[in-house]
Amino acid sequence: MSVEKLLNTIKEKNPASDLDMIRLAYDFAAKAHEGQTRASGEPYINHPLAVAQYLAEMNMDTSIIIAALLHDVPEDTPVTLEEIEKNFGEDVASMVGGITKLGKLKYRGMERYIENLRKMFIAIAKDVRIIIIRFADRLHNLKTLDALPEKKRHRIALESLEIYAPIAGRLGMGEIKGQLEDLSFKYVDTENYNWVTKLQTESYKEHKVNLEKTRAKTETELKKTGIPLISLNGRIKHIYSLYRKLLRYDKDINKIYDITALRLIVPSVSDCYAALGIIHKLWRPVPNRIKDYIAQPKPNGYQSLHTAVFCEGNQIIEFQIRTEKMHEEAEYGIAAHWQFKEYGKEKKVKQLQWMNELAQIQKTIFKDIKDIENLKIDFFQNRIFVWTPGGDIIDLPEAATPIDFAYSIHTDIGNKCVGCRVNNQLSSLDASLKNGDIVEIITDKKRKGPNPNWMKFVKTNVARNRIKSYAKSSLTDWLKDKLLPGKKGAPKS
Ligand code: MN
Repeated sequence: MSVEKLLNTIKEKNPASDLDMIRLAYDFAAKAHEGQTRASGEPYINHPLAVAQYLAEMNMDTSIIIAALLHDVPEDTPVTLEEIEKNFGEDVASMVGGITKLGKLKYRGMERYIENLRKMFIAIAKDVRIIIIRFADRLHNLKTLDALPEKKRHRIALESLEIYAPIAGRLGMGEIKGQLEDLSFKYVDTENYNWVTKLQTESYKEHKVNLEKTRAKTETELKKTGIPLISLNGRIKHIYSLYRKLLRYDKDINKIYDITALRLIVPSVSDCYAALGIIHKLWRPVPNRIKDYIAQPKPNGYQSLHTAVFCEGNQIIEFQIRTEKMHEEAEYGIAAHWQFKEYGKEKKVKQLQWMNELAQIQKTIFKDIKDIENLKIDFFQNRIFVWTPGGDIIDLPEAATPIDFAYSIHTDIGNKCVGCRVNNQLSSLDASLKNGDIVEIITDKKRKGPNPNWMKFVKTNVARNRIKSYAKSSLTDWLKDKLLPGKKGAPKS
């Protein structure tokens, strides 16, 4: 790991890059982190350097690599975000600021908050580039997890598996998703990780010879028929994805045909179909195993032709056929748009694309949420996220009050609420909450029900409906008492 290696990688990929600027960013970060070490004992600067290296290998543009080098500076050193802005401009500073904010978001293993946390991750990030850097950051942290104490290790691994990987998947970043999952699966569920790893290795050993024979034969045949081939390589299914599939197929490895696959990359869509024809002429296809994700892409945009065939040795092997562009999108998803080669066009175009991407993320992330209220297009501007004292996150509209917060946790907490603390200070129940506030509700079991005056200031429908329905039910009781004296305690409907 060295800055020379980083500069060489960048120079190799894009000779036109501003290498001086990248070296400046490195020097700036190295000076800020001077004397700091990671849990493993190595100099701290090695971490941002590794993150930048990973992104450089992904061919990300210069501003992303600069932000990656600086990403831990404001959080861990006396150097401020303002100083970064002065030296490296507003764009880089806003990315670094976003990463710092994201770092404060922590998942502590409560099932019911998972979706909120994913939403918050996206809302805080705002910029796709911040998410990309954060993923690279997390990948390096996962690779160096052994140096951390067991409890912290588990928390980070679980968070990566439950929050980061699903987001990567929804953004179409298949390769990053696979890496995040495999690295964290090892710590979250070591036993099953070892089981699947063993199965995978054995299966590969078994298939290796026939896989190579099939590969060679396919290559010869394609050359003969004049279909231009960019690459034809074997690929092994990721461990965690294989594990998930095993769970769906009675844990029976013999029912899974795509543990090893051959990936065929050709120049055009018509080449894809032509290659499929050749493969089917060479080997008999397994019935019902042909999937045309080119004509019908997966929801996250994934495109390829898949087919499983009885190949050499009558073994079943899956072929995945795609163009280079499809391959890039399958590996990097949204990040593919941020690769260097597309840079250099007008900034304005870039900006526009950015907005479109954001809209796209909103669509992919929120698609499966039934609550229409959450689907408002102005979601990002008008939502705030506040913490419970236990570190869980509640998603609320702007200017929501502690009463809204109480009801969004539980009806009883709302109904029995008598006071609250915001950031450890006693606060009034009609205060406007702000992003990042820690809110603690004080309840009194003896309290009968909500104060009807709360209706004047609550902002959420949840709170409004609960207060109204309580008032209605108690009014019914009151009326019943008046009209039918002696029949106290009639069951509420
Ligand atoms: Mn970091």
